[in-house]
Amino acid sequence: MKARLFVEKMYKQGRIPNAILFYGKEGIGKREIASELAQAILCLKNQYPPCGSCTSCTLIKDFFSTPEEKLRVFGESSYGKEIFLYLQGDHPDFICIKPEKTEIKVDQIRALKDFVYIRPALSNKKVVLIQNAETMNLYAQNALLKVLEEPPADTFFILVCNNLHKILPTIKSRCFLLEIPPLTMDELTKRTGITDPTLLELADGSLKLLNQIKEKEDLVKTALNFLSGDIMTVYNIANKLDNLSEEDQMLFLKVLTFLIHKKYLKEKDDSYKLILDRLYSTMEYLGRGLNLTLLMFYIYLEGGNNLALHKGSLQGYKEDYAG
Ligand SMILES: [Zn+2]
Repeated sequence: MKARLFVEKMYKQGRIPNAILFYGKEGIGKREIASELAQAILCLKNQYPPCGSCTSCTLIKDFFSTPEEKLRVFGESSYGKEIFLYLQGDHPDFICIKPEKTEIKVDQIRALKDFVYIRPALSNKKVVLIQNAETMNLYAQNALLKVLEEPPADTFFILVCNNLHKILPTIKSRCFLLEIPPLTMDELTKRTGITDPTLLELADGSLKLLNQIKEKEDLVKTALNFLSGDIMTVYNIANKLDNLSEEDQMLFLKVLTFLIHKKYLKEKDDSYKLILDRLYSTMEYLGRGLNLTLLMFYIYLEGGNNLALHKGSLQGYKEDYAG
């Protein structure tokens, strides 16, 4: 992979920036590259790829193979409530910040100070890995900015994000940005052995999505049925959605988004755009009690005229609803 080679080159030239931000679609291996870099920065033999056997490497490998529940560090928020701060294993110079649920909060970033401004204990450097950096709320991003403005020389910040436009420009300007491209179909096949072109296309370069899709092929079929269904099919599918697990709902919405996006690119009809916007915001706020059944009817009705997936019978419904 090109991006990985690029990182290796920077490392070997001793030019790893103090703050680096990996961005790109979900499930394409950003975290792998980020954790390998973290391990290499801390490696006692200063090797890239990391040696894998020094004390530092061993502890970092332990970290990534330990269940998260055992790594969670808690602290007190500014108003005295116990909150999740970050993940830390036995390596004293490495922590990983990630959202508790949907957000990385300002208290989590503030808690960094205790880590950032003490000297490294095992390696001669420290690494802060921030996963899903796009989930930092505005306060958290501003707090991080302050740290990045006066970065301690021995601390490296590695940010990983799926959605670059959610990162403040001021943070972006302090980070070295490195885009990780989606995996090609060949790469996906090589990694999974899956050759079915429909599944590969749906995965859209994401290994994570491909594995999910493979496991939940029935959900993919449901999404396809939804788009080609008559009102009764839609009704039946829509009614089932609110009972699915959040993970399955997300997968269903992703597949649906992908299919509609493809139609949009092909037909350039603006009503698809409306539907897509609605789908994106639904995915963003999923898990906050959104009603998916209603969303499905919205999509069905909004797209009714031109999703070209519906037959004429829909017209009457649309007018009824509008009237
Ligand atoms: Zn090592």
